Amino acid sequence: MRKLIILSYDYELFFGDRSGTVIKTLIEPTNLLLAQFEESNLKATFFVDYLMIKYLGRNTDEHSVLDLRLIEDQIRDIVQRGHRIELHIHPHWVDAKYNGDGTWNYSDFSHYSLNSFTEDEITEMFIEGCNILHSIIRNVDSNYQIVAFRAGGWAIQPFSLLKKAFLCTNIRIDSSTSYGIKNANKDSYYDFTNIPRKSVYRFENAVEIEDVEGSFMEVPISSYYRFIFYKLSDRIYRRFSSQMAIYADGTHFRKSDQLKTKLHFFNRSMFNTTCVSTITAVMSTLLSKKRLLVYIDHPKDFTMGTLISLKIISKFVQSITYKDLL
Ligand SMILES: [Zn+2]
Repeated sequence: MRKLIILSYDYELFFGDRSGTVIKTLIEPTNLLLAQFEESNLKATFFVDYLMIKYLGRNTDEHSVLDLRLIEDQIRDIVQRGHRIELHIHPHWVDAKYNGDGTWNYSDFSHYSLNSFTEDEITEMFIEGCNILHSIIRNVDSNYQIVAFRAGGWAIQPFSLLKKAFLCTNIRIDSSTSYGIKNANKDSYYDFTNIPRKSVYRFENAVEIEDVEGSFMEVPISSYYRFIFYKLSDRIYRRFSSQMAIYADGTHFRKSDQLKTKLHFFNRSMFNTTCVSTITAVMSTLLSKKRLLVYIDHPKDFTMGTLISLKIISKFVQSITYKDLL
């Protein structure tokens, strides 16, 4: 039986010193991905950072008006091609400042995590996010319903703060966790070192604790052990191949290091196709014993190599979306 994969893409700008432009960071790389999905018969899910759309919509300059239209058109195009749009929230947008030239300044990260808000504020955000995305999508699919969520910066804990928001929006699936990965700094926190080692499990009040009777479904981003072979091949590709050159025009890097994320990967890494060599992407997929693999990628991290990786991987797998799990 063919291995199943879920390809997930967080659709968002960069949060480093340069946000990147909508065209180079989102529109162009996503169009290249969509063409590859078509060719390789793959289905993907895009977690759209709705606050980006909301704040872009508040600007009246020509640049922003065009960017907003391009994003809305692309979201509809994604749905019409049979892919999925789901909800993603990066709440530090509430403190973002527009630079006036199609880029943003995020010098304040005090609201980086959802848990810096109250339960009611989070619930309002979920409702607003679903309304904004639905109003864009329902022009082309009148019954469209968002069913899944991914927290910005993976900050899904404590879930008790988000439960009401899930219930109010009828979102039943979360895909923010990843086995073996944790992080803690002054703006962000998550700890997935002890989540169930399963491809899918149910939960009720805490994403890290399985509850077979639970109302919600956790679909962790798959992670794998980073053998030295993978590290070497990635390093060689990065150094000697143009395939791993970043296409977009923003940066993850922050000079202030305000958001310095001390990632404790324990030598584990999330499955992806953009930040690793084709050898790593293909070998980690083929060698995994899991029946269902969940990848996390970002259009902003797009490299030409990802198209080759997707093309090869597609020959061995069948892709599904989160909605197919319901
Ligand atoms: Zn994100």
